[in-house]
Amino acid sequence: MPRPLVAIIDIAALQHNLTVAKRKTPQARVWAVVKANAYGHGLERALRGFAEADGLALIEPDAAVRLRDLGWRKPILLLEGCFDAVDFAIAAQYQFDIAIHCAEQIALLEQTRFPKPVNIHLKMNSGMNRLGFTPAAFAGAFGRLRDNPAVASITLMTHFANADDADNPALPLAEQLRRFQLGSAGLDAPVSVSNSGATLLHAGLTSHQVRPGVMLYGGSPGTAPAADFDLRPAMTLQSELIGIQQIHAGEAVGYGSRFVAPVPMSVGVVACGYADGYPRHAPTGTPILVQGMRTRVIGNISMDMLTVDLTPVPTAHVGSCVTLWGDDLPIDEVARAAGTIGYELMCAIAPRVRVTER
Ligand SMILES: *Cc1c(COP(=O)(O)O)cnc(C)c1O
Repeated sequence: MPRPLVAIIDIAALQHNLTVAKRKTPQARVWAVVKANAYGHGLERALRGFAEADGLALIEPDAAVRLRDLGWRKPILLLEGCFDAVDFAIAAQYQFDIAIHCAEQIALLEQTRFPKPVNIHLKMNSGMNRLGFTPAAFAGAFGRLRDNPAVASITLMTHFANADDADNPALPLAEQLRRFQLGSAGLDAPVSVSNSGATLLHAGLTSHQVRPGVMLYGGSPGTAPAADFDLRPAMTLQSELIGIQQIHAGEAVGYGSRFVAPVPMSVGVVACGYADGYPRHAPTGTPILVQGMRTRVIGNISMDMLTVDLTPVPTAHVGSCVTLWGDDLPIDEVARAAGTIGYELMCAIAPRVRVTER
């Protein structure tokens, strides 16, 4: 008997969410971002869900090789580029598109023998201050790559810190765009700037290529509910009640006795804990569904279990179905209650969780 905990991946939802991205940016080439094991959904499922994407983009070179082995023939983009000379050789062999974000990578690229010219995505640091050339150094890097016969094409790329919060006073979206345009002035090349937030909220800005990630999995890139964008949850995390306790007023539940029953109550024990990827910081009150009915998590999350208030579900029994997130309970809502974002919950699904699909 397997544990009742299962992550159900809805391939049709992946396909649908991709069409939402395409509809938003009909002129753009769409890279479906599948880093981190397709945000926890599995590379092989993403491959089928995103068969209509123009390319797949990710961080991990070994996973990129696996995509080729699984039969993906369209472009694959390494979003952080190559990490060493061996990666460059592999990228050359498997014909990956490569991001270039620093001078060290240009030097390694120049030492690599490419059987076929390579597509480069030159990254600018337009204010996020993670990866990329400064606006001032950008044209120089572009020129050096353009003069390299091994380079087939160059795409101008940057990444927004606040696509979902365009008026952020520390770095407004418009300021990042201004720096990007300044640094890339006069460079004749396609532009790739939009992540999910920009694709959904700023579809009008120039991005010949877009790089949606979380939206494809039915997560919201910001505070607006994903359903407002017609996105469907691709992952439903489901389990069952494996125990029920009737407790008296004043009785405590779980480690640290953090929840004390104010009245006599029925407590459900769910087969899912932080070792499965459920956030340990989810406080009492975090929403959860039992038999489709909304109730709340109570007490501390354990490694393999969590406890719920069964007051709103008097018919609950051992074996009752529990939804931790997904259908009828947006992952973003659970994430917000736990002080995190949907992205983290998706990616944190643990290897021991059984995965099925529909
Ligand atoms: C992860 C990532 C994306 C996708 O971001 P979402 O917010 O999930 O849409 C796009 N571009 C780059 C460079 C990334 O690393």
